[in-house]
Amino acid sequence: MNTYNLHCDCNKVALTLSGEPKVKAYCHCIDCRELLNSPFAPVTAWTEENAAITAGEEHVSIYQHPSLRMKKYFCSHCGEVLFNTNCVDWRVVPQLLIAKNHDHQLPEELTATAHIFYEQRVVDISDDLPKHLRGFSSPLFAG
Ligand SMILES: [Zn+2]
Ligand SMILES: [Zn+2]
Repeated sequence: MNTYNLHCDCNKVALTLSGEPKVKAYCHCIDCRELLNSPFAPVTAWTEENAAITAGEEHVSIYQHPSLRMKKYFCSHCGEVLFNTNCVDWRVVPQLLIAKNHDHQLPEELTATAHIFYEQRVVDISDDLPKHLRGFSSPLFAG
C-alpha cells in the first residue's frame, strides 16, 4: 500500500496519506474557488481513514465556512492548509502540498485524471484530460 508522509511548513503537524485517493482531479467548482481563492483546485480526495493527522494534532485549527459545507484544517502556527473537507467529509488534500513534500514532484500515480465541475469554470483549459461538467459520472464537456 502506498503511503505519503506530509508535514506543514513549520513541521509541527504531520499528515499521512495511505492507499488510494477517491479522486485525483482539477476541480473547477464554485465551492473550491471560494474556499481556496484559486480559479481551480488541483486536488486529491481521501477518506478520513486514509488521510490521518499523525503528529501535532494540538496545532490543528479547524475553520467551518459560514455557508458552504466545507471546513479548512490548518496549522495554527504556520497557517498552512493541510486539507479541507467537502460535503461528504472526504479530506481534500492539495496536490501541491503532496508535491512540496516529495521534492516538488507529485508522485506519478497521484496525477489528476480529469477536470471536474467544468461547467462552473472561470478559465478554459486546453489539455487532453476528460472534462466532466459536474462529478466523475456526469457528461463530458462537448467543447
Ligand atoms: Zn505548521
Ligand atoms: Zn471543488
